[in-house]
Amino acid sequence: MPRYKKLKIAGKTLSAHRVIYEQHHGPIPTGWHVHHIDGDPLNNDPANLQALSPREHSRLHNDRHPRVKACEVCGRDFEPPPTKRKRAKSCSPECARALMSAAAVKREAARRALVG
Ligand SMILES: [Zn+2]
Ligand SMILES: [Zn+2]
Repeated sequence: MPRYKKLKIAGKTLSAHRVIYEQHHGPIPTGWHVHHIDGDPLNNDPANLQALSPREHSRLHNDRHPRVKACEVCGRDFEPPPTKRKRAKSCSPECARALMSAAAVKREAARRALVG
């Protein structure tokens, strides 16, 4: 029975495959994922691990709704919660608010155009 799926290092719980990847291939770029090339998440052989940008990773897994989206406000990549993948458009409550006020400005302009 695998006892250590997660390793605790410097107070942070890290996934074993990320630790193994870094030990063999060097640091993982910030925000990147470590992908299991053969599709088996338990095969943590260094040769089976590959660092991918979140977008590349989503593409590889053919996610219907990408795991990672680009925020429509600030352009930053973000990972919406699985239940909100389809609708999420912004990375943070701040950006959501900016998006909403931009929509409100547009609505207001449309209303004024209607009124003449
Ligand atoms: Zn993967
Ligand atoms: Zn944003």
